[in-house]
Amino acid sequence: DALINQIAAGEVVERPASLVKELVENALDAGARAVAVTLEQGGVRRVRVQDDGHGIAREELALAVMRHATSKLHTAEDLERIATMGFRGEALAAIASVCRLTITSRAQGSEHAWRFDAVSGELAPAALESGTVIDCADLYYNTPARRKFLKSESTEYAHCEEALRRVALSRPEVAFALSHNARSVLHLKPGTPEERLAALLGETFIERSRAVEAEAGPARLFGRVIEPRHADQSRPPQYWFVNGRFVRDRMLTQALRQAYADVLHGSRQPAFALFLTIDPALVDVNVHPAKIEVRFRDSQAVFRFVLDAVRRALAPSRI
Ligand code: ADP
Ligand code: MG
Repeated sequence: DALINQIAAGEVVERPASLVKELVENALDAGARAVAVTLEQGGVRRVRVQDDGHGIAREELALAVMRHATSKLHTAEDLERIATMGFRGEALAAIASVCRLTITSRAQGSEHAWRFDAVSGELAPAALESGTVIDCADLYYNTPARRKFLKSESTEYAHCEEALRRVALSRPEVAFALSHNARSVLHLKPGTPEERLAALLGETFIERSRAVEAEAGPARLFGRVIEPRHADQSRPPQYWFVNGRFVRDRMLTQALRQAYADVLHGSRQPAFALFLTIDPALVDVNVHPAKIEVRFRDSQAVFRFVLDAVRRALAPSRI
């Protein structure tokens, strides 16, 4: 079983940033309003995520790190309308198999917190006001072959920060803090989607970009796109979100390229942050363990919808 978990970890835990993504998503699934991420040495030495969510009950703590233990799916039908970020029950088990994991949590209504050490299996009373702290130390301490694939501290750190930015963009109502090697790097107050975009992509992105806003049947698209001549950063921000998840999707990228080509005849990379919401029954997010890929039931219809919406946003003479 430990081996199976380590194999699964190969898919879920690619690098420290994967821990950030999975743990922050768990915090959000627990209803957190504030999430604090603490990193040491690019996340390799430590990734620690603290939230103020509903917590984990004492008797659930050991279970949380078991493979396919999820509290979020109960029936096959639930899979058709996934409302949480997690649902596979794989992440914590995989993470626990490749680092020294402890969970400290105080479930709502519980008298005090409990701390579970996944290495020793020990469960002990602990002090914590509310919510959950998940601490992952020494990533790949027990799988040295994997450790060799890690890049420099600054590269791993950059991936961690990017993982957090992606989640933070899609959840502007939640406060996020990030620190690295005891230095505070990000401090995001809860706010509107526009405020969060400005905080993370900069005021100039907002000033120079155009708003996208469209609705058709079960689909809604909003966000901002920027003309290529303004996207002067070497790596322009390119963010697609589907139902609150950051995704990479060839069809969505293609629709955007097409719209730029049609309206601006430009060849440079577009910069954008776009949020597509669609009836969960019309999109499959269970394609890949890290859930970065999606499959649309009617991919043609989504393509046309996005193409049309972005074209209208970019058109020079808008009413
Ligand atoms: P999934 O998110 O797919 O359900 P995970 O392996 O990520 O699976 O987490 C396993 C379970 O642990 C979750 O279903 C949830 O019940 C519990 N859990 C994990 N992190 C937290 C947290 N921060 N707060 C409350 N419960 C959590
Ligand atoms: Mg999860």
